[in-house]
Amino acid sequence: MSVRKILIVGGGFTGLTAAIAFAQRDVDVTLIDKVSAWARVGHGLTIQGNALRVFREIGVIDQVLAVGQPENGVTLRLADGTLLEHLETPRTGGEDLPATIGALRPDLHEILVAKAEEYGVEIRLGQELADYANNEDGTVTSELSDGSRETWDLVVVAEGIKSPTRPKIGIVENRAPSGLGIWRAVTTRTPEMTGALAFPVADDGGAFKVGYTPVSADQCYVYVLCRPERVDNGLEDWQEARRLMENFHGEFDYLRESIDESTFLNFQQIEWVFVDSPWHDGRVVALGEAVHAVPPLIAQGAAQCLEDALLFAEHVAADGDLEEQLAAFYARRIPRIKGVVDASMRLAEWELHPGAPDADPGRVMGEALAALVAAP
Ligand SMILES: Cc1cc2nc3c(=O)[nH]c(=O)nc-3n(C[C@H](O)[C@H](O)[C@H](O)COP(=O)(O)OP(=O)(O)OC[C@H]3O[C@@H](n4cnc5c(N)ncnc54)[C@H](O)[C@@H]3O)c2cc1C
Repeated sequence: MSVRKILIVGGGFTGLTAAIAFAQRDVDVTLIDKVSAWARVGHGLTIQGNALRVFREIGVIDQVLAVGQPENGVTLRLADGTLLEHLETPRTGGEDLPATIGALRPDLHEILVAKAEEYGVEIRLGQELADYANNEDGTVTSELSDGSRETWDLVVVAEGIKSPTRPKIGIVENRAPSGLGIWRAVTTRTPEMTGALAFPVADDGGAFKVGYTPVSADQCYVYVLCRPERVDNGLEDWQEARRLMENFHGEFDYLRESIDESTFLNFQQIEWVFVDSPWHDGRVVALGEAVHAVPPLIAQGAAQCLEDALLFAEHVAADGDLEEQLAAFYARRIPRIKGVVDASMRLAEWELHPGAPDADPGRVMGEALAALVAAP
């Protein structure tokens, strides 16, 4: 297939990375997003080496490293502060990139938007894909939410886990609850605080796990993994986050005390989806969290989305038969993503049932990440 003109639906990590990768291959790219303006909202992320490798390929690695805080591992503790172990994170992007960085999601998003604009991607906000029709001549016609109709060589659906287009493509898998909920906050840290995860000593009705990741010299992103329901106990959000952390000590005392009414906090249920059947209907192809999303227990969500986007552009921007190109793309993607899904869902199960006799989260995390060191 020779792709000259594509529509990308969704401007998250997947859509923007695909947009840049296609534009770098001289494809005329239009990207739409339902938001009416890019908002500087969102918390922190752990970005692993294999995601950094994609950032390097699309030419934004210097900007990404400039806004991120490099880390090479994470310290595991019990809630009372007892040291369990320090896990070195495998360098999934190769020896010349950090194992991981912590960064603020809006910083990374701004870098990708700027790069897409630099390559001439036309970004139209406040637009959705209302409908589409595959044409006999091998093109696809979109109908957008403003009623406009336009014809493309390809439409990429990068709408995220709540994708309304996914069922229209014929995909039957849908998002489902993982059984977990998460509170997230961005707050301050001291220079000695380099990232940790802590587990409760007993199931006390509070958090399953509390962790933090540095995202700048004096800030960090804190997360509290918990039950999926927001308890109706009359507490304000910041008070509820502090309640869930009240039995976590050591550096978590500092973090808990730093959360107050001015902290930007968010609670959500964590859902998951994994589509291991074809992701396309004719010339309309879903990528990223529209087809695979997992609880962030090995922090590979964004990395797998970025790998999708770059490899997809590499496969289909060249001349060739689209069905064959997609078959080759799936053969590379599905086993790799399945490894991440299986490990993440197993870890989620152990979060929900901490006494499970076979529970060995350190080994599962280590093995899952080690399997990603090989290039995708
Ligand atoms: C609690 C939590 C913590 C996480 N932590 C990490 C982490 O530490 N490290 C990591 O690598 N990953 C993490 N992830 C996963 C990561 O956030 C996702 O994998 C990634 O953001 C998905 O990118 P995406 O572009 O596919 O989807 P999204 O980021 O959801 O982007 C979809 C875009 O499409 C737009 N859109 C949606 N519907 C439409 C429509 N109908 N029409 C037009 N536009 C539309 C949206 O406005 C949005 O801009 C985490 C996820 C969660 C839930």
